[in-house]
Amino acid sequence: MGLVDLRLDDTELSSCVACGLCLPHCPTFRVTGEEGLSPRGRIDAMRSVQWHGANVDDDFVRFMDTCVQCRGCEPACPSGVPFGHLMEGTRHALVDAHRSRQRWLRAAFAVLSRHRLLLAGSTVLALAQRLRLVPKRLGFARLPLRRGAAVAPRGDDDGDHIWLFTGCVMDAWMRPTHRNTAALLTAAGATYDVPGAGASCCGALHAHAGLVDEAADLAAQVVQAMPGDVPVIVNSAGCGAAMKDYGRLVGTPAAVAFSRRVVDVNEWLAERLDQLPTPLRRPPPVIVQDPCHLRHVQRAHEPVRAVLRHVTDVVELDDDGLCCGAGGAYSALQPELANTVRERKVAVIGRATARSGATIVASANPGCIMHLRAAGLDVRHPVDIVAEALTL
Ligand code: SF4
Ligand code: SF4
Repeated sequence: MGLVDLRLDDTELSSCVACGLCLPHCPTFRVTGEEGLSPRGRIDAMRSVQWHGANVDDDFVRFMDTCVQCRGCEPACPSGVPFGHLMEGTRHALVDAHRSRQRWLRAAFAVLSRHRLLLAGSTVLALAQRLRLVPKRLGFARLPLRRGAAVAPRGDDDGDHIWLFTGCVMDAWMRPTHRNTAALLTAAGATYDVPGAGASCCGALHAHAGLVDEAADLAAQVVQAMPGDVPVIVNSAGCGAAMKDYGRLVGTPAAVAFSRRVVDVNEWLAERLDQLPTPLRRPPPVIVQDPCHLRHVQRAHEPVRAVLRHVTDVVELDDDGLCCGAGGAYSALQPELANTVRERKVAVIGRATARSGATIVASANPGCIMHLRAAGLDVRHPVDIVAEALTL
C-alpha cells in the first residue's frame, strides 16, 4: 500500500506509555502471544507509520484487521488511551487509501441499510441452512425462517413516552426480542414510537470497518428519524455504543443532544423494576456474558444483572469480561481468530456450568448471541429471559 497518512490525533497516539497492562485483556494477544496483535503493538505500528514515515505493508494491515475492536484494552489502561478512536481512524485511512478495499467493504455493508433486501436475504440464507447448503465451517448460527410481525408504535404522548430503535440485523434475526422489549416497556408503564425506514441501520459496522463517511450519513438519518427529547431505547449493545458516540461521529449539536438520549434497554428497565410484575416461579439461574460494547464501551453491564435478578439468579464468568470473538462482522471477516477466541469463552462458560449447573447464557448483543450459538450454546437476550419469566 506504501505511504499512508493515518491522520490520527498526535495527543491520543502519544498517550500510550507502553506499560503492557492492557495485554492480558486483549483477546488476540491472549490467543496468539504476538506483540503486533496486542494494543501496545498496534499503537507502535501506528506510530511507525504516522511519525516515522514507515510504509503500510502486509504486516501493518494484518495487525489492524485482526483487532476485534472489543476495546477491552481501554478500561485496563492507566493512561486512558482511546484505542477505539485510534483503530477507527486507522481503518478509515486504510479504506481511503485503498480503493478496492473501499469498494468491497461498501458492497458487503450496503445491504444493512436496505432493510427489505436484508430481510429477504436473511430468509434465503435461513432456507439454505435448512437445505444444508451453507457449510458449517462458515460458523453461521441458525437464522429464523419466520420472524413474525414487526413491532408497531404503541400509545400516545402521555406518560413515559420513548423511542424504541429496531435497527437492521436485530430486526432481521431477532425480531421476537423486539416484541419482548416492547412488552417489557409497556409493563413498566411506557408508550413508545418506532422509527421509520430512515433509521434502519445505526452505522456501527460501517464505522468499525473504516467506512466512517457512510457511518456518519446513517447516523444523521437516525438522528433525524427520532426527533424530540425523549429517551431512545436500544436493545443491541453494539448499536447502543455507536449511537452514544454520534456526537463525536457526526459533530453537530443535534447529534450531541441525540447521543445523550440513547439508553440501553437494561439501563432503562433497571430503574423501573418496581413497576414490573414479579414472576410466579423463578426460572433456573443464568450465566451472564457481557458484550464488550456494553461492558467496555457503554460501561452499562451492571444493569443487566439487576434486570435478570428480578426474575432469577445470576452466575458470573471468571474471565474478567474477555471478548467472545464476535466483534460485529469480525467473525465473518476473521473466522479463524474469531473461533479461537470463542473457544476460550466456551471453556469459561463450561467452568461456570460445572460450578453452578446453569446452562442458559444471557448476552445483550446480537453478534455475541449468534457467534456463541454457532458453538452450540443456549444463548438468549436478557430481555427474552425476563419476558418469558414474567409470561408477558
Ligand atoms: S480493541 Fe480488543 S482486540 Fe483490539 S487491541 Fe484492544 S483489546 Fe485487543
Ligand atoms: S495502551 Fe495503555 S495499558 Fe496498553 S501499553 Fe499503552 S499505556 Fe499501557
